Amino acid sequence: MFDLIIRNANLPDGRSRVDIGILGDKIAEVAAAIEATAPEEIDATGRLVSPPFVDPHFHMDATLSLGLPRLNRSGTLLEGIALWGELRPTLTREALVERALRYCDLAVTQGLLHIRSHVDTSDPRLVTVEALLEVRDKVAPYIDLQLVAFPQDGYFRSPGAVDALNRALDMGVDVVGGIPHFERTMSDGASSVEALCRIAAERGLPVDMHCDETDDPMSRHIETLAKETIRFGLQGRIAGSHLTSMHSMDNYYVSKLIPLMAEAEINVIPNPLINIMLQGRHDTYPKRRGLTRVRELMEAGLNVSFGHDCVMDPWYSMGSGDMLEVGHMAIHLAQMAGIEDRKKIFDALTVNSAKTMEIEGYGLDRGCNADLIILQARDPLEALRLKPNRLAVIRRGKVIAGTPARVTELRIDGRPQVVDGSYYAPVLPTDGV
Ligand SMILES: [Zn+2]
Repeated sequence: MFDLIIRNANLPDGRSRVDIGILGDKIAEVAAAIEATAPEEIDATGRLVSPPFVDPHFHMDATLSLGLPRLNRSGTLLEGIALWGELRPTLTREALVERALRYCDLAVTQGLLHIRSHVDTSDPRLVTVEALLEVRDKVAPYIDLQLVAFPQDGYFRSPGAVDALNRALDMGVDVVGGIPHFERTMSDGASSVEALCRIAAERGLPVDMHCDETDDPMSRHIETLAKETIRFGLQGRIAGSHLTSMHSMDNYYVSKLIPLMAEAEINVIPNPLINIMLQGRHDTYPKRRGLTRVRELMEAGLNVSFGHDCVMDPWYSMGSGDMLEVGHMAIHLAQMAGIEDRKKIFDALTVNSAKTMEIEGYGLDRGCNADLIILQARDPLEALRLKPNRLAVIRRGKVIAGTPARVTELRIDGRPQVVDGSYYAPVLPTDGV
């Protein structure tokens, strides 16, 4: 009756010791104790079983290019963009494909099976697009890769960008991108938002813009993006990535802006690792954090999901493909350390991102795709605290990766012989135990 049963699973919603029956590539049953047997059974032993991580904002054309052709000396966003401009003419399809595939290997080990990647369309050769379309096909058996046509040097500011972006969409790129704060003027930025939303409406595509990635409180393109969303009837299909200027905006203005964003059903995508690294660079002290208003946006009912953005590229020399590292940083930057807060942060790495990316069949309900990860942690709070090993990564009912549990041998008289850090958290009264 089942091909695979996972037993004794703790689920992100708090259900514990549940069995999950898988038939073919779908979840066929989720129940307290499944009586049937299956040819393959995995005992999760009270560990967290979650749908896979989803990264709604990444740059797979730049990843793992760190040091090419040189390192970012100032560490700023603008030098990163300049550096990428130096590297771009030398890019080859083969090298792009190779680096992207290597990153996808890393992603799978971390249980990251859905990625939305921006693809720079500034070079009229569109070698980046050709390469990432090839990668999208190659990784399809194990990663759902969604591509965004991203005019890195500006839609109006860069000659040929309008044509190149449209050609990229013709070639099969999935989402319309933009970068209004990088256009020459505020009004050019607003015009680009209008033009790109119009393209999306005409082509029936979603939009995901790098929007207001600056400390300038007057960078208000998100307001225009929300307005155009409503005007073109694109509610729920538009994402505003970064939105860091909201950190520095006047509170009164924000009290008007957030309801407008809610009306437009904007998907909000902060990138905590990159935001804390790149924002506030013109500040002496105090230095702003640069993260958008995560708590307030969530409380207003907006769908917030976090992106990894960069891993070892011109903008960010660190990163690991681990979305729990992203969530860990988000907890600190947004100061969302309460129990309910941290559950919301876990959702922002999984179900919220799946909603942003319009992924079908995602989740743990009967009939969903059998895409699951087993973590060396009891629950989402422990997962965020420990960034634990992914004991098993399951894609469409098949185990495609696994890491043994992290257990340390302790050689101290009178103390335990082995230590597994995932068993050390005090049990909280709210855990219902
Ligand atoms: Zn980005």
